[in-house]
Amino acid sequence: MVHSISILGCTGSIGRQTAAVAEHTGIRVAALTANRKIDLLEQQARKFKPAFVAVYDEEAAKQFKIAVADTDIRVGSGMEGLIEAATLRQSDCVVTAVSGAVGLRPTLAAIDAKKRIALANKETLVCAGDLVMARAKEKGAEIVPVDSEHSAIFQCLMGRGAGELHKILLTGSGGPFRGKKREELESVTPAQAVAHPNWSMGAKISVDSSTLMNKGLEFVEAMHLFSVKPEDITVVIHPQSVIHSMVELVDGTVIAQLGVPDMGLPIQLALTYPERRPSLFEHLDFWKLRDLSFEEPDLVNFPCLKLAMDCAKRGGTAPCVMSAANEVAVHKFLRGELGYNLIYDAAAEAVETVGVTAAEDLDTILAADEAARAFVRENY
Ligand code: MG
Repeated sequence: MVHSISILGCTGSIGRQTAAVAEHTGIRVAALTANRKIDLLEQQARKFKPAFVAVYDEEAAKQFKIAVADTDIRVGSGMEGLIEAATLRQSDCVVTAVSGAVGLRPTLAAIDAKKRIALANKETLVCAGDLVMARAKEKGAEIVPVDSEHSAIFQCLMGRGAGELHKILLTGSGGPFRGKKREELESVTPAQAVAHPNWSMGAKISVDSSTLMNKGLEFVEAMHLFSVKPEDITVVIHPQSVIHSMVELVDGTVIAQLGVPDMGLPIQLALTYPERRPSLFEHLDFWKLRDLSFEEPDLVNFPCLKLAMDCAKRGGTAPCVMSAANEVAVHKFLRGELGYNLIYDAAAEAVETVGVTAAEDLDTILAADEAARAFVRENY
């Protein structure tokens, strides 16, 4: 288990829950980073007294430095600040809870510094899965997933040999619009899209959950994390979100991980692994569980999932371009500038227009990411 952590993206949903887990388990918080929410960051900094805090936004960093001038916290800014937080000598684990491609460089830096990565930033593996996994193997850095599905698969595979796995059954709730037709979704508002039935999450990932793009990103993530091919992953819609994912072994045995839908659980395990600690979270009450049901994903009315699976098969920069285009489109939708169904159109058109190359190095990947963003900004 780890003793001291750096939380990248501490003011977001996962970041705040990580801080709560650290408090409960007595794990020291050595560094915090945020983009620009400095009021909350200051509260967290005064509570946890980290050695170092980085604020990504330069202007906000200046204000933050003034706000904590009475403490001995060192303050950094920009990408340099994020990288310093990710490689801080005092931390043995980095929780990557930032949203978007900004998490890539700090994650690679943390791997080079041989830190445990508690991975909560999807883009890291979606954009640069081959690169990141190869680097982690080379440096001997552990990657422990925080995403609930990947944590479930990780737990189901604990202590098993590579030859035992037949396929991964990646579960998803189906989101708030399960059963609807694409035509009915044209007038969906941001408020409707962020109201997830089971999970409490940030706005961007909530919209992704409603379009099933989130499941698509998780599909790509699972491929890299567990070294499997796209055909070895089956998406199973399970509306109750009690089973967080399953693995099917070669003899036909299926192993599932169950628990209440609370991100605190996978966060805590990523920090205490290979140990387990009592948690503050509710335990499952089987007498209160309704039926557990399962259905096939609807790839016709939720084409984002199909697009992601196709991009996973194409490989190279395809998942990165799709994810970056989707990110810009979702933010446009959240600001009321883009219709709900156009999120898919933007991501699909970006993949065709920007094109796909081999994802050989970080510069190629970041260029593809930027080209996809520019395409959606200019054309949607
Ligand atoms: Mg998830």
